[in-house]
Amino acid sequence: MTQQKKTILSGMRPTGKLHLGHLVGALENWVALQGEFQNYHLIADYHALTTNPETADIYANSIDMLIDWLSAGLDPEQSPMFRQSQIKEHAELHLIFSMLITTARLERNPTLKEQVRDLEMENIAYGHLGYPVLQAADILLYKGNVVPVGEDQLPHIEITREIARRFNALYPSEPPVFPEPEGKITKFARLTGLDGKRMSKSVGNTILLSDPPEVITKKLRTAVTDPQKLRKGDPGRPDVCLVFSYHNKFNPAETAEIRTNCESGALGCVDCKLRCAARIGDALAPMRERRTHFEAHMDDVRDILHSGELRAKEIAQATMHEVRTAMRIG
Ligand code: SF4
Repeated sequence: MTQQKKTILSGMRPTGKLHLGHLVGALENWVALQGEFQNYHLIADYHALTTNPETADIYANSIDMLIDWLSAGLDPEQSPMFRQSQIKEHAELHLIFSMLITTARLERNPTLKEQVRDLEMENIAYGHLGYPVLQAADILLYKGNVVPVGEDQLPHIEITREIARRFNALYPSEPPVFPEPEGKITKFARLTGLDGKRMSKSVGNTILLSDPPEVITKKLRTAVTDPQKLRKGDPGRPDVCLVFSYHNKFNPAETAEIRTNCESGALGCVDCKLRCAARIGDALAPMRERRTHFEAHMDDVRDILHSGELRAKEIAQATMHEVRTAMRIG
C-alpha cells in the first residue's frame, strides 16, 4: 500500500526579485523537499500588506518572485504555486480562526513584541496582531503537516497548533478536520548581508539571484571582511569574515586553502572577494539562464500561476466544506 505524502505549506511575501538569503534560507530547502512531500507554495500578498499597504507593484513583484522560484527549480507540476489573495478561503478561515484565540495570547507572540519595539505601538495594525492567525489559515487550509521555518517562526507554528487543537475540540468530527503541523527548521543558517547585517533588499545589502556576474563582483567588493586584516600580508580570521561564510556556501572545494592563506596573510581580501564572486556567479548561472527563458515566455508564467491557483482553490474549497460541516453552518 502506498503511503500518502505529507503536506508542506510554505510561502514568501512578494517583495520582487529574491536574493541569496532567500535561496539559502528557504528555496534550496523547498526544492530538496519536492517529491518527498506534497508541497504548496504561497505568494503571501495579503501578508505583504502588513508592512506595506501600497499595492501598485504587488502583481509585478509576485510574478518576479514566481520566476525566481521556478528558476531555482520548483516544479509547478509537483508543487502548485498561487497567490493568497486569489483563494478567498484564506480570508474566510482566518475570520473563523480569529474567534478561537485570545488577543492576550497573540500579544505574547515574540515577533509582535519585536514589531512593537521597531514600529512603536501606535503604528501596529490589527493585521500585525492577527498575522499568525492568517498564517494558521494558510497552513491549515491545505492541511499542512509540516512547515519549513526559521527558528524565529516557531512561535507562529505553535499558535497554528493551538488553533487546530481548539477547532478540533470545539467542532469534533471523525477524523478531526485539522492536523497539528510541525515546524521543520531550515537546515542552513541565514546568510548575512554584505554589510554584516541581516540581508534585506530595503537595506541594499543583497546579491540578487538574477544579478549578472559583473554586478555580483561589484557588490562583493563592498563586503565587510575581518576588520583586523587591513592589507595583503596581514593575518586574517576567516571565522569572523563574511566573505568566508559565502565561500563556505558557494565554494566548499577551496575553503581549506583559503583559510590557510587568509590566516597566513598570503591571500589578500581583494583576490579573495574576486574568487568568491566568480563562484557565486557560477552557482547562479543556471538560474539566470532559466530566468531569461521565463522572461521570454511570460504567458507560460501566467499559465503556471493560473493552474496553481485552480489546484489550490480546489483543496481550499474542500477543506472549507469540512469546516462548515463540522461547525454545522454548512
Ligand atoms: S582573505 Fe578572504 S577570508 Fe580572509 S579576511 Fe580577507 S576576505 Fe575574509
